[in-house]
Amino acid sequence: MEQHMEHNGPFCQSCGMPMPEQDLLGTDREGVKTEDYCKYCYENGEFKQPDITLQGMIDLCAGYLVQQGFAEADARGMLAQTLPLLKRWRQAGTAS
Ligand SMILES: [Zn+2]
Repeated sequence: MEQHMEHNGPFCQSCGMPMPEQDLLGTDREGVKTEDYCKYCYENGEFKQPDITLQGMIDLCAGYLVQQGFAEADARGMLAQTLPLLKRWRQAGTAS
């Protein structure tokens, strides 16, 4: 049997962090947990960094990944590919 690192369950549509535990889920305005965003990005129906840009989020997440042992170039490359696909960033960007 091969072992794969799979995303089981939801992951944050803002920073891409997997959320295998309920504890990591963000909350909507009623305080109900949402599977769309993590608690670091979204709490009580509001983004914690409402003005952050996609590039800013890449910088922020790259910092965490480097702390976890990723090479910075690898972390940035991965984030630059995955974050623009997430719900928070998909409509931002080019369309206007
Ligand atoms: Zn997040």
